[in-house]
This record gives sequence, structure tokens and C-alpha cells, in this order.
Amino acid sequence: MSGGSCPDCGGSGEDRTLPGYVLRCGRCSGRGVDHLLGNAPAAPAEPPPVWEDRCWSDPRLAGISCRICLDQRYVANVRGGVLATLPCPACTPGD
Ligand SMILES: [Zn+2]
Ligand SMILES: [Zn+2]
Repeated sequence: MSGGSCPDCGGSGEDRTLPGYVLRCGRCSGRGVDHLLGNAPAAPAEPPPVWEDRCWSDPRLAGISCRICLDQRYVANVRGGVLATLPCPACTPGD
């Protein structure tokens, strides 16, 4: 399986659907091959949630129990253009 030519552009890598314009084929990104056939790539990786960021595997941060406020018990928040500190919602019981 070598992928095969892109069915949209016939392998030219060009999108000629607009008269007078030669655009790059949106299906194959100009490569002329349909990568969706054969070896389909893995789903595009979405950025992980911030609390699963790789930085949390840093041993210097391993001792921090609350990743929201970094054990400060307060978080900074901008409200109406004013920087305010609020009790951390994760480790401060709401009242
Ligand atoms: Zn194409
Ligand atoms: Zn907290």
C-alpha cells in the first residue's frame, strides 16, 4: 500500500476549483497523495489539559498537592480588568 493518488486533485497537489487560481489541494496539502487511505495517521493530538501537562512530572513540582493554586490556597483572577485573589476553588470549601 503506497497510499495512492489524492482523489481530489488526481495527484497533482493542486486545487483548481476556482477559475484562474491554482491553490494547494486541501485534501492532500499539496502532496498529491491521499494519506487517508492505507496508513491512516493517528487522530490529531489535542493539547492535553493543563493539569496533565508534562511539567507536572517535574520532580520539583511533585510535592505540590493542589495544581490549581500551587498550595497557595489562593488563585489570581482577573475580573473587570482588576487582578484579584480568590480562595482556591479546589482546596477551599465553598461557603
Ligand atoms: Zn490532493
Ligand atoms: Zn488549591
